[in-house]
Amino acid sequence: MEKIKMTTPLVEMDGDEMTRILWKIIKDELIYPFVDLKSEYYDLGLEHRNETDDKVTFDSAYATKKYGVAVKCATITPNAARMTEYNLKEMWKSPNGTIRAILDGTVFRAPIVVKGIEPCVKNWKKPITIARHAYGDVYKGSEMKIPGPGKAEIVYTAEDGTQTVELIHEFKEAGIVQGMHNICGSIESFARSCFNYALDTKQTLWFATKDTISKKYDHTFKDIFQDIFDAEYKEKFDAAGIEYFYTLIDDAVARVMKSEGGYIWACKNYDGDVMSDMISSAFGSLAMMTSVLVSPDGNYEYEAAHGTVQRHYYKHLKGEETSTNSVATIYAWSGALRKRGELDNIPELMDFADKLEAATIKTIEDGKMTKDLALITTLENVTVLNSENFIKAIRETLEAMY
Ligand code: NAP
Ligand code: MG
Repeated sequence: MEKIKMTTPLVEMDGDEMTRILWKIIKDELIYPFVDLKSEYYDLGLEHRNETDDKVTFDSAYATKKYGVAVKCATITPNAARMTEYNLKEMWKSPNGTIRAILDGTVFRAPIVVKGIEPCVKNWKKPITIARHAYGDVYKGSEMKIPGPGKAEIVYTAEDGTQTVELIHEFKEAGIVQGMHNICGSIESFARSCFNYALDTKQTLWFATKDTISKKYDHTFKDIFQDIFDAEYKEKFDAAGIEYFYTLIDDAVARVMKSEGGYIWACKNYDGDVMSDMISSAFGSLAMMTSVLVSPDGNYEYEAAHGTVQRHYYKHLKGEETSTNSVATIYAWSGALRKRGELDNIPELMDFADKLEAATIKTIEDGKMTKDLALITTLENVTVLNSENFIKAIRETLEAMY
Protein backbone atom coordinates (compact mmCIF):
# COMPACT_ATOMS: atom_id res chain seq x y z
CA MET A 1 0.00 0.00 0.00
CA GLU A 2 1.00 3.59 -0.45
CA LYS A 3 1.87 5.26 2.83
CA ILE A 4 -0.61 7.77 4.20
CA LYS A 5 0.63 11.35 3.89
CA MET A 6 0.40 13.90 6.68
CA THR A 7 0.38 17.68 6.34
CA THR A 8 1.03 18.99 9.87
CA PRO A 9 3.61 17.47 12.21
CA LEU A 10 2.52 15.56 15.28
CA VAL A 11 4.38 16.59 18.42
CA GLU A 12 6.12 13.41 19.54
CA MET A 13 7.28 13.22 23.16
CA ASP A 14 9.48 10.20 23.76
CA GLY A 15 9.89 8.89 27.31
CA ASP A 16 11.55 6.42 29.61
CA GLU A 17 12.26 2.80 30.49
CA MET A 18 9.98 0.01 29.25
CA THR A 19 7.55 2.37 27.56
CA ARG A 20 10.47 3.88 25.59
CA ILE A 21 11.29 0.37 24.35
CA LEU A 22 7.64 -0.19 23.37
CA TRP A 23 7.54 3.26 21.73
CA LYS A 24 10.21 2.31 19.21
CA ILE A 25 8.68 -1.07 18.40
CA ILE A 26 5.25 0.52 17.94
CA LYS A 27 6.67 3.06 15.51
CA ASP A 28 8.66 0.47 13.57
CA GLU A 29 5.90 -2.14 13.35
CA LEU A 30 2.64 -0.20 13.43
CA ILE A 31 3.26 3.35 12.24
CA TYR A 32 6.15 3.61 9.73
CA PRO A 33 4.94 0.78 7.44
CA PHE A 34 1.56 2.53 7.02
CA VAL A 35 2.05 6.26 7.59
CA ASP A 36 4.58 8.65 6.15
CA LEU A 37 5.01 10.00 9.67
CA LYS A 38 5.55 13.69 10.01
CA SER A 39 6.52 14.41 13.60
CA GLU A 40 8.41 16.99 15.56
CA TYR A 41 10.41 14.86 17.96
CA TYR A 42 11.12 15.84 21.57
CA ASP A 43 13.13 13.47 23.70
CA LEU A 44 11.60 13.67 27.19
CA GLY A 45 13.72 10.74 28.36
CA LEU A 46 15.15 11.69 31.77
CA GLU A 47 18.75 11.87 30.52
CA HIS A 48 17.85 14.40 27.87
CA ARG A 49 15.65 16.39 30.24
CA ASN A 50 18.65 16.60 32.54
CA GLU A 51 21.01 17.64 29.72
CA THR A 52 18.65 20.44 28.63
CA ASP A 53 17.82 21.57 32.19
CA ASP A 54 14.29 20.37 31.41
CA LYS A 55 13.95 22.94 28.62
CA VAL A 56 12.91 20.12 26.27
CA THR A 57 9.73 19.55 28.31
CA PHE A 58 8.75 23.22 28.04
CA ASP A 59 9.59 23.26 24.32
CA SER A 60 7.44 20.20 23.71
CA ALA A 61 4.49 21.83 25.48
CA TYR A 62 4.87 25.05 23.45
CA ALA A 63 5.06 22.96 20.27
CA THR A 64 1.76 21.35 21.32
CA LYS A 65 0.24 24.81 21.61
CA LYS A 66 1.56 25.60 18.13
CA TYR A 67 0.50 22.42 16.29
CA GLY A 68 -2.46 21.31 18.45
CA VAL A 69 -1.77 17.58 18.82
CA ALA A 70 0.86 15.64 20.77
CA VAL A 71 1.51 11.99 21.59
CA LYS A 72 3.45 11.31 24.77
CA CYS A 73 5.32 8.30 26.10
CA ALA A 74 5.33 7.68 29.86
CA THR A 75 8.15 9.49 31.65
CA ILE A 76 9.93 9.18 34.99
CA THR A 77 8.99 11.74 37.61
CA PRO A 78 12.28 12.04 39.50
CA ASN A 79 12.49 11.22 43.20
CA ALA A 80 15.51 10.77 45.48
CA ALA A 81 16.35 7.33 44.05
CA ARG A 82 16.28 8.67 40.47
CA MET A 83 18.63 11.52 41.45
CA THR A 84 21.38 8.96 42.07
CA GLU A 85 20.35 6.51 39.35
CA TYR A 86 20.54 9.19 36.63
CA ASN A 87 23.03 11.51 38.33
CA LEU A 88 20.61 14.43 37.98
CA LYS A 89 21.52 18.09 38.33
CA GLU A 90 18.14 18.80 39.92
CA MET A 91 15.00 16.93 40.92
CA TRP A 92 13.16 17.96 37.74
CA LYS A 93 9.40 18.42 38.07
CA SER A 94 6.88 15.95 36.68
CA PRO A 95 6.70 16.49 32.89
CA ASN A 96 2.95 15.91 33.02
CA GLY A 97 2.63 18.67 35.60
CA THR A 98 4.70 21.06 33.46
CA ILE A 99 2.74 20.26 30.30
CA ARG A 100 -0.60 20.53 32.13
CA ALA A 101 0.34 23.92 33.59
CA ILE A 102 1.21 25.27 30.11
CA LEU A 103 -1.79 23.80 28.28
CA ASP A 104 -4.25 24.39 31.17
CA GLY A 105 -6.35 21.35 30.53
CA THR A 106 -8.67 18.68 31.78
CA VAL A 107 -7.59 15.03 31.79
CA PHE A 108 -9.99 12.50 30.26
CA ARG A 109 -9.42 8.82 31.05
CA ALA A 110 -11.32 6.03 29.35
CA PRO A 111 -11.01 2.24 29.58
CA ILE A 112 -10.42 0.23 26.40
CA VAL A 113 -13.11 -2.42 26.35
CA VAL A 114 -12.46 -5.85 24.82
CA LYS A 115 -14.38 -9.12 24.90
CA GLY A 116 -12.77 -11.49 27.35
CA ILE A 117 -11.74 -8.77 29.80
CA GLU A 118 -15.05 -8.23 31.52
CA PRO A 119 -15.83 -5.34 33.87
CA CYS A 120 -16.69 -6.36 37.42
CA VAL A 121 -19.96 -4.45 37.00
CA LYS A 122 -21.80 -6.74 34.63
CA ASN A 123 -24.19 -4.15 33.15
CA TRP A 124 -21.28 -1.93 31.99
CA LYS A 125 -21.24 -2.52 28.24
CA LYS A 126 -19.49 0.66 27.06
CA PRO A 127 -16.58 2.64 28.49
CA ILE A 128 -17.14 5.29 31.14
CA THR A 129 -14.83 8.26 30.64
CA ILE A 130 -13.79 10.25 33.70
CA ALA A 131 -13.07 13.96 33.21
CA ARG A 132 -11.18 15.21 36.23
CA HIS A 133 -10.80 18.87 37.07
CA ALA A 134 -7.12 19.11 37.92
CA TYR A 135 -7.04 22.36 39.90
CA GLY A 136 -7.80 23.42 43.46
CA ASP A 137 -10.24 22.30 46.16
CA VAL A 138 -8.68 20.14 48.85
CA TYR A 139 -5.47 19.75 46.74
CA LYS A 140 -4.74 23.42 47.35
CA GLY A 141 -6.27 23.57 50.79
CA SER A 142 -4.91 24.99 54.02
CA GLU A 143 -5.67 23.33 57.30
CA MET A 144 -5.37 23.98 60.98
CA LYS A 145 -5.62 21.95 64.13
CA ILE A 146 -7.70 23.77 66.70
CA PRO A 147 -6.19 23.13 70.14
CA GLY A 148 -9.15 24.19 72.28
CA PRO A 149 -12.09 26.58 72.76
CA GLY A 150 -12.18 29.60 70.42
CA LYS A 151 -13.69 30.96 67.24
CA ALA A 152 -12.65 30.00 63.67
CA GLU A 153 -13.64 32.30 60.79
CA ILE A 154 -13.12 32.73 57.05
CA VAL A 155 -11.83 36.23 56.30
CA TYR A 156 -11.65 37.76 52.82
CA THR A 157 -9.72 41.03 52.58
CA ALA A 158 -10.42 42.89 49.34
CA GLU A 159 -7.70 44.97 47.67
CA ASP A 160 -9.19 48.13 49.19
CA GLY A 161 -8.94 46.61 52.66
CA THR A 162 -12.62 45.91 53.28
CA GLN A 163 -13.23 42.60 54.98
CA THR A 164 -15.93 39.98 54.75
CA VAL A 165 -16.08 37.50 57.61
CA GLU A 166 -17.93 34.21 57.82
CA LEU A 167 -18.04 32.15 61.00
CA ILE A 168 -16.86 28.56 60.61
CA HIS A 169 -17.41 27.36 64.15
CA GLU A 170 -17.36 28.40 67.80
CA PHE A 171 -15.15 25.69 69.20
CA LYS A 172 -15.94 24.53 72.75
CA GLU A 173 -13.16 21.94 72.57
CA ALA A 174 -10.29 20.82 70.28
CA GLY A 175 -11.03 20.26 66.59
CA ILE A 176 -9.89 20.79 63.02
CA VAL A 177 -10.60 23.27 60.20
CA GLN A 178 -9.87 23.35 56.50
CA GLY A 179 -9.98 26.17 53.95
CA MET A 180 -9.99 25.56 50.22
CA HIS A 181 -10.60 27.50 47.05
CA ASN A 182 -11.13 27.36 43.35
CA ILE A 183 -11.00 29.95 40.57
CA CYS A 184 -13.91 30.75 38.28
CA GLY A 185 -11.59 30.89 35.25
CA SER A 186 -10.35 27.38 35.96
CA ILE A 187 -13.89 26.05 36.39
CA GLU A 188 -14.88 27.71 33.09
CA SER A 189 -11.92 26.04 31.32
CA PHE A 190 -12.90 22.73 32.87
CA ALA A 191 -16.49 23.14 31.66
CA ARG A 192 -15.49 24.07 28.09
CA SER A 193 -13.00 21.18 27.89
CA CYS A 194 -15.76 18.79 28.97
CA PHE A 195 -18.34 20.17 26.51
CA ASN A 196 -15.82 20.11 23.65
CA TYR A 197 -14.75 16.57 24.45
CA ALA A 198 -18.38 15.43 24.62
CA LEU A 199 -18.99 16.90 21.15
CA ASP A 200 -15.76 15.39 19.83
CA THR A 201 -16.57 11.89 21.02
CA LYS A 202 -20.37 12.24 20.60
CA GLN A 203 -21.05 11.14 24.15
CA THR A 204 -23.48 12.54 26.69
CA LEU A 205 -21.88 14.47 29.56
CA TRP A 206 -22.75 13.99 33.23
CA PHE A 207 -21.65 16.38 35.94
CA ALA A 208 -22.35 16.12 39.64
CA THR A 209 -21.52 18.01 42.82
CA LYS A 210 -23.04 18.36 46.29
CA ASP A 211 -24.74 21.69 45.62
CA THR A 212 -27.63 21.04 48.02
CA ILE A 213 -25.19 21.11 50.95
CA SER A 214 -22.49 23.37 49.49
CA LYS A 215 -24.79 26.19 48.41
CA LYS A 216 -22.05 28.59 47.33
CA TYR A 217 -18.96 26.51 46.56
CA ASP A 218 -20.40 23.52 44.71
CA HIS A 219 -23.31 25.59 43.47
CA THR A 220 -20.84 27.84 41.63
CA PHE A 221 -19.54 24.80 39.71
CA LYS A 222 -23.11 23.86 38.81
CA ASP A 223 -23.98 27.42 37.73
CA ILE A 224 -20.84 27.92 35.63
CA PHE A 225 -21.42 24.65 33.78
CA GLN A 226 -25.09 25.48 33.17
CA ASP A 227 -24.43 29.08 32.02
CA ILE A 228 -21.72 28.03 29.57
CA PHE A 229 -23.83 25.15 28.32
CA ASP A 230 -26.89 27.33 27.68
CA ALA A 231 -24.91 30.14 26.04
CA GLU A 232 -22.43 28.20 23.91
CA TYR A 233 -23.22 24.50 23.61
CA LYS A 234 -26.92 23.71 23.85
CA GLU A 235 -27.56 23.93 20.10
CA LYS A 236 -24.42 21.98 19.23
CA PHE A 237 -25.41 19.24 21.68
CA ASP A 238 -28.92 19.07 20.20
CA ALA A 239 -27.45 18.80 16.71
CA ALA A 240 -25.09 16.02 17.80
CA GLY A 241 -27.92 14.16 19.56
CA ILE A 242 -26.19 14.19 22.95
CA GLU A 243 -27.17 15.61 26.34
CA TYR A 244 -25.73 17.51 29.25
CA PHE A 245 -27.06 16.09 32.48
CA TYR A 246 -26.50 17.51 35.97
CA THR A 247 -27.33 15.65 39.15
CA LEU A 248 -26.20 15.31 42.77
CA ILE A 249 -22.98 13.37 43.27
CA ASP A 250 -24.63 10.62 45.34
CA ASP A 251 -27.34 10.21 42.72
CA ALA A 252 -24.64 10.09 40.02
CA VAL A 253 -22.75 7.31 41.82
CA ALA A 254 -25.93 5.25 42.09
CA ARG A 255 -26.79 5.80 38.42
CA VAL A 256 -23.25 4.96 37.25
CA MET A 257 -23.46 1.54 38.89
CA LYS A 258 -26.76 0.79 37.14
CA SER A 259 -25.82 2.29 33.77
CA GLU A 260 -24.49 0.55 30.70
CA GLY A 261 -21.73 3.16 30.27
CA GLY A 262 -21.00 5.13 27.14
CA TYR A 263 -20.84 8.65 28.63
CA ILE A 264 -18.41 11.15 30.12
CA TRP A 265 -18.54 11.72 33.85
CA ALA A 266 -17.12 15.10 34.79
CA CYS A 267 -15.84 15.17 38.36
CA LYS A 268 -14.53 17.81 40.71
CA ASN A 269 -10.89 17.24 41.60
CA TYR A 270 -11.36 14.93 44.60
CA ASP A 271 -14.27 12.99 43.11
CA GLY A 272 -12.21 12.46 39.93
CA ASP A 273 -9.20 11.22 41.88
CA VAL A 274 -11.27 8.65 43.75
CA MET A 275 -13.69 7.65 41.00
CA SER A 276 -11.08 7.18 38.25
CA ASP A 277 -9.35 4.49 40.31
CA MET A 278 -12.70 2.80 40.87
CA ILE A 279 -13.57 2.92 37.16
CA SER A 280 -10.17 1.71 35.92
CA SER A 281 -9.90 -1.18 38.33
CA ALA A 282 -13.51 -2.22 37.72
CA PHE A 283 -12.88 -2.26 33.97
CA GLY A 284 -9.82 -4.48 34.33
CA SER A 285 -6.40 -2.85 34.13
CA LEU A 286 -4.42 0.39 34.04
CA ALA A 287 -2.67 -0.93 30.94
CA MET A 288 -6.05 -0.75 29.16
CA MET A 289 -6.74 2.89 29.99
CA THR A 290 -6.27 5.82 27.64
CA SER A 291 -5.62 9.33 28.80
CA VAL A 292 -5.89 12.61 26.93
CA LEU A 293 -5.29 16.14 28.11
CA VAL A 294 -7.65 18.57 26.39
CA SER A 295 -7.02 22.29 26.73
CA PRO A 296 -9.83 24.85 26.55
CA ASP A 297 -8.37 26.35 23.38
CA GLY A 298 -8.42 22.98 21.64
CA ASN A 299 -4.97 21.38 22.06
CA TYR A 300 -4.73 17.66 22.65
CA GLU A 301 -2.03 15.55 24.29
CA TYR A 302 -2.51 11.76 24.15
CA GLU A 303 -0.76 9.29 26.45
CA ALA A 304 -1.15 6.01 28.33
CA ALA A 305 -2.56 6.19 31.87
CA HIS A 306 0.22 3.98 33.31
CA GLY A 307 3.86 4.76 34.08
CA THR A 308 7.17 3.58 32.60
CA VAL A 309 6.77 0.01 33.96
CA GLN A 310 10.14 0.11 35.68
CA ARG A 311 10.09 -3.46 37.00
CA HIS A 312 9.73 -4.86 33.47
CA TYR A 313 12.50 -2.56 32.20
CA TYR A 314 15.00 -3.90 34.72
CA LYS A 315 14.14 -7.44 33.58
CA HIS A 316 14.64 -6.29 29.99
CA LEU A 317 18.06 -4.83 30.89
CA LYS A 318 19.07 -8.18 32.38
CA GLY A 319 18.21 -9.80 29.06
CA GLU A 320 15.09 -11.48 30.42
CA GLU A 321 11.91 -11.70 28.36
CA THR A 322 9.12 -9.22 29.15
CA SER A 323 5.42 -9.31 28.38
CA THR A 324 4.48 -5.66 28.77
CA ASN A 325 1.10 -4.49 27.53
CA SER A 326 1.43 -1.83 24.82
CA VAL A 327 -2.29 -1.27 24.23
CA ALA A 328 -2.62 2.08 26.02
CA THR A 329 0.48 3.42 24.23
CA ILE A 330 -0.83 2.22 20.85
CA TYR A 331 -4.10 4.02 21.61
CA ALA A 332 -2.17 7.18 22.42
CA TRP A 333 -0.79 6.99 18.86
CA SER A 334 -4.13 6.16 17.25
CA GLY A 335 -5.85 8.95 19.20
CA ALA A 336 -3.25 11.51 18.16
CA LEU A 337 -3.20 10.41 14.51
CA ARG A 338 -7.00 10.43 14.32
CA LYS A 339 -7.13 13.94 15.78
CA ARG A 340 -4.43 15.10 13.30
CA GLY A 341 -6.51 13.56 10.51
CA GLU A 342 -9.64 15.38 11.72
CA LEU A 343 -7.93 18.75 12.02
CA ASP A 344 -6.15 18.44 8.66
CA ASN A 345 -9.03 16.72 6.91
CA ILE A 346 -7.16 13.51 6.01
CA PRO A 347 -9.80 10.73 6.00
CA GLU A 348 -7.21 7.99 5.33
CA LEU A 349 -5.41 8.94 8.52
CA MET A 350 -8.62 8.78 10.57
CA ASP A 351 -9.42 5.44 8.94
CA PHE A 352 -5.94 4.17 9.78
CA ALA A 353 -6.43 5.12 13.44
CA ASP A 354 -9.73 3.19 13.49
CA LYS A 355 -8.09 0.17 11.88
CA LEU A 356 -5.12 0.24 14.27
CA GLU A 357 -7.50 0.16 17.25
CA ALA A 358 -9.68 -2.51 15.67
CA ALA A 359 -6.58 -4.64 14.93
CA THR A 360 -5.41 -4.27 18.54
CA ILE A 361 -8.79 -5.38 19.89
CA LYS A 362 -9.14 -8.22 17.39
CA THR A 363 -5.68 -9.57 18.26
CA ILE A 364 -6.66 -9.78 21.93
CA GLU A 365 -10.11 -11.18 21.21
CA ASP A 366 -8.42 -13.83 19.02
CA GLY A 367 -6.62 -14.95 22.17
CA LYS A 368 -3.21 -13.34 21.60
CA MET A 369 -2.27 -11.09 24.51
CA THR A 370 0.31 -10.06 27.08
CA LYS A 371 0.64 -11.72 30.47
CA ASP A 372 -1.25 -9.11 32.49
CA LEU A 373 -4.38 -9.71 30.38
CA ALA A 374 -3.93 -13.48 30.23
CA LEU A 375 -4.16 -13.49 34.03
CA ILE A 376 -7.61 -11.86 34.06
CA THR A 377 -9.24 -12.95 30.81
CA THR A 378 -12.32 -15.14 30.59
CA LEU A 379 -11.17 -16.40 27.16
CA GLU A 380 -9.83 -19.93 26.88
CA ASN A 381 -6.84 -21.20 24.87
CA VAL A 382 -4.94 -17.97 25.23
CA THR A 383 -1.45 -17.45 23.76
CA VAL A 384 0.78 -15.28 25.97
CA LEU A 385 3.13 -13.20 23.85
CA ASN A 386 6.21 -11.23 24.78
CA SER A 387 6.30 -7.44 24.42
CA GLU A 388 7.62 -7.46 20.86
CA ASN A 389 5.63 -10.40 19.52
CA PHE A 390 2.36 -8.92 20.77
CA ILE A 391 2.99 -5.80 18.69
CA LYS A 392 4.02 -7.97 15.72
CA ALA A 393 0.79 -9.95 16.07
CA ILE A 394 -1.17 -6.68 15.89
CA ARG A 395 0.78 -5.78 12.75
CA GLU A 396 -0.30 -9.05 11.12
CA THR A 397 -3.94 -8.36 12.00
CA LEU A 398 -3.61 -4.80 10.72
CA GLU A 399 -2.00 -5.83 7.43
CA ALA A 400 -4.90 -8.18 6.81
CA MET A 401 -7.24 -5.18 6.98
CA TYR A 402 -5.55 -3.44 4.06
P1 NAP B 1 3.71 1.82 36.45
O1 NAP B 1 4.80 2.09 35.50
O2 NAP B 1 2.34 2.19 36.00
O3 NAP B 1 3.76 0.28 36.83
C1 NAP B 1 3.23 -0.26 38.01
C2 NAP B 1 2.93 -1.75 37.82
O4 NAP B 1 1.70 -1.87 37.10
C3 NAP B 1 3.95 -2.49 36.97
O5 NAP B 1 5.06 -2.91 37.74
C4 NAP B 1 3.11 -3.60 36.39
O6 NAP B 1 2.84 -4.60 37.35
C5 NAP B 1 1.80 -2.89 36.14
N1 NAP B 1 1.76 -2.26 34.80
C6 NAP B 1 1.65 -0.93 34.50
N2 NAP B 1 1.61 -0.75 33.20
C7 NAP B 1 1.69 -1.96 32.63
C8 NAP B 1 1.73 -2.42 31.27
N3 NAP B 1 1.67 -1.55 30.26
N4 NAP B 1 1.83 -3.75 31.04
C9 NAP B 1 1.90 -4.61 32.05
N5 NAP B 1 1.88 -4.24 33.35
C10 NAP B 1 1.78 -2.94 33.62
O7 NAP B 1 3.98 2.61 37.82
P2 NAP B 1 5.30 2.72 38.72
O8 NAP B 1 6.11 1.49 38.61
O9 NAP B 1 4.76 3.15 40.01
O10 NAP B 1 6.10 3.92 38.10
C11 NAP B 1 7.22 3.78 37.25
C12 NAP B 1 7.65 5.15 36.78
O11 NAP B 1 6.62 5.70 35.97
C13 NAP B 1 7.92 6.14 37.88
O12 NAP B 1 9.21 6.72 37.69
C14 NAP B 1 6.84 7.19 37.73
O13 NAP B 1 7.33 8.47 37.99
C15 NAP B 1 6.44 7.06 36.30
N6 NAP B 1 5.03 7.41 36.00
C16 NAP B 1 4.80 8.11 34.86
C17 NAP B 1 3.52 8.41 34.46
C18 NAP B 1 3.32 9.18 33.21
O14 NAP B 1 4.27 9.55 32.54
N7 NAP B 1 2.10 9.44 32.81
C19 NAP B 1 2.44 7.96 35.22
C20 NAP B 1 2.67 7.20 36.36
C21 NAP B 1 3.99 6.92 36.73
P3 NAP B 1 3.76 -5.93 37.55
O15 NAP B 1 5.10 -5.43 37.95
O16 NAP B 1 3.02 -6.64 38.63
O17 NAP B 1 3.80 -6.68 36.25
MG1 MG C 1 -6.08 8.42 42.90
